[in-house]
Amino acid sequence: MASDCLFCKIVEGSIPSFKVYEDEATYAFLDINPVNLGHTLVVPKRHFTNIYELPEQELSALTQTTQRIAKVLKELRADGVNIIINNDVAAGQAVFHAHTHVIPRYTDDGYRHWRGPVQPPEAMERMRAELYNKLSDL
Ligand code: AMP
Ligand code: ZN
Repeated sequence: MASDCLFCKIVEGSIPSFKVYEDEATYAFLDINPVNLGHTLVVPKRHFTNIYELPEQELSALTQTTQRIAKVLKELRADGVNIIINNDVAAGQAVFHAHTHVIPRYTDDGYRHWRGPVQPPEAMERMRAELYNKLSDL
C-alpha cells in the first residue's frame, strides 16, 4: 500500500466507500462524483500508478471485474456503458492509483461522444507508420 494514496486507503477500509464488489485482486466502488448514478471505479488492490505499470495478472483481473460490472449495469437498466482509463494528468488522471471508470449510459442522458475532425491522409499515414514500426519492435 502507498501510504498517501486515496484508493489504497479505500481498499484497506480506512476511508469509507460505497463498495459494490470485491475479490482477491480487485475492489470496486461508486464514484463520488458520478457521471450518471452507478458510475463505478474498479481498482487493483495492489498499488500501481496507471495502466503502463500493471503486470499481466493484475491487468487481467481488472479487466474481468470491469466487464462483470459493465454487464450488471446493463442488466439493471443502462442502455450502454462507457469504460475509461485516464492515464497521466494530460489525460485527466487525478488519482494516481490505476482504475477503470465503468459508466452507465442512457439514450437521453445528454452526454456527447468525443470526436475530432477528419485528418489529412498524409498525417494519418505518418502516424500509422510511426505506431506500426514502434509496435513491431516490441
Ligand atoms: P481520474 O480522474 O480517472 O483519476 O478519476 C478519479 C475519480 O475518483 C474521479 O471520478 C473522482 O470523482 C473519484 N473520487 C475521488 N475521491 C473519491 C472517493 N473518496 N470515493 C469515490 N470516488 C472518488
Ligand atoms: Zn494506491
